[in-house]
Amino acid sequence: MKPGTKTIERHRLPASSMGNARTLKVIRYGDRSSGRKAYIQTGLHADEPPGYLVMHHLIDLLDQADAANKITGEIVLVPVANPIGVAQWRDDTLLGRFDAYNGVNFNRRHWNITDPVVEKIKGKLARKAGKNIALIRKAMGEVIDASKPVEEADYLKHLLLSFSHDADIVLDLHCDLEAVLHVYMGTPLWPAASDLSAQLGAEATLLARVSGEYPFDEACSRIWWDLAEKFPAYPIPPACLAATVELRGTTDVSHELGAKDAKNLFLFLQRRGLIQGRAPAVPPLINTATSLRGVEHVKAVTPGVLVFLKKPGQSVKKGDTILEIINPLENKSKKRITRVKSRTDGILISTVLDRYARPGRILAKVAGKESLKDKGDNLLTL
Ligand SMILES: [Zn+2]
Repeated sequence: MKPGTKTIERHRLPASSMGNARTLKVIRYGDRSSGRKAYIQTGLHADEPPGYLVMHHLIDLLDQADAANKITGEIVLVPVANPIGVAQWRDDTLLGRFDAYNGVNFNRRHWNITDPVVEKIKGKLARKAGKNIALIRKAMGEVIDASKPVEEADYLKHLLLSFSHDADIVLDLHCDLEAVLHVYMGTPLWPAASDLSAQLGAEATLLARVSGEYPFDEACSRIWWDLAEKFPAYPIPPACLAATVELRGTTDVSHELGAKDAKNLFLFLQRRGLIQGRAPAVPPLINTATSLRGVEHVKAVTPGVLVFLKKPGQSVKKGDTILEIINPLENKSKKRITRVKSRTDGILISTVLDRYARPGRILAKVAGKESLKDKGDNLLTL
């Protein structure tokens, strides 16, 4: 392999309005035949800026490694994964989370291809896990290639899955509102993937077999345990470590943090054998993973202005006051204050960025140790 394996592709999305076709840029490094592939994208929620800066620093690191002929696996980057959302400006604000056409969250309703893959692999599975991985990846590719959605956002989701479905590692970079770094992934991936959380310095890792509404990481990873359940006689491992990485909060954008996160992703890929060289020992994990069913959504019960008494990263005990909602229209001083308490022991991982309460609005999330009994099937926020 000669030094300099980097290639750049530009994919055209179908125009949803006359004369307005958008393009998606994909950067590839390394050797496609190496048998090890990592895929990293950012900005599926286009209004979440930290990932774009991490990409800037990661591209620099990978360009240097590539020039030194050190990239031994295939590494695919999509630095701006949602050209539709990133154009959604309204009243001086970038709104890139929901498709303005139909209100659908860009990180929900990704494509579940399990059923058509089942049809293709029935009767062909082997006793060796490696053979089954290759068979399933080939079937996934065929199912994806056989479809061409006409609607722009569906086409985008299809395109992103076509780049990522056969990867061993898929990282979808996001951020929360005001938050510490935390990671979402499938329960069957833990603890094998704990090196990712440890290297990134994640303060929480939230696990679910099914999180509801099919986010992008689940489109890549869940098919493996769904197939293992459908074909219990054959070895089908969770062959895709897909994770959603929440790079703190919306305003946590600095070269210091961006460079640190990019370096940590680089070291993770190096340790996983995609880049030559010895990565240092995995740093200690800050907190072990907990169930996504244990995340308490702390909600407003009355309108008012918010005063947080706890900050993201702090431990809370059941009954601790996390925030107060103040309504100055109440006559008595005491009545103006509504205290909102934690229902669980855990870590406060995120809060809203503005300071307004509207009854029913989720104001904060606590990663609790125990599953909450009243959790429905959809474990994700809007
Ligand atoms: Zn997001």
